[in-house]
Amino acid sequence: MAKKQKKPSNKKLFKNHSSMLCKNCNTTIMSYHRHDFNHCECGNIFIDGGTDYTRFGCTPGSAYESFLRDWEVDMDTGEKTLLDFLGE
Ligand SMILES: [Zn+2]
Repeated sequence: MAKKQKKPSNKKLFKNHSSMLCKNCNTTIMSYHRHDFNHCECGNIFIDGGTDYTRFGCTPGSAYESFLRDWEVDMDTGEKTLLDFLGE
């Protein structure tokens, strides 16, 4: 009898991935592939290009920080989870 297969989770870890924090709306964003365009909640900053070429921008005068973070991305839905403060 065949065992019922659980649908495999299609999550992928992105370690030390370019990320940006918008200091206006306090959203951290990243781009995991070249067509994944993201902007923060208030729209002041955006990031694009995934791991191929990271491109980011902001509206003039907006406050932001860029850093490297670990993320887990569900490759089916594109849902991103910031893995800060886990482990270590
Ligand atoms: Zn923002």
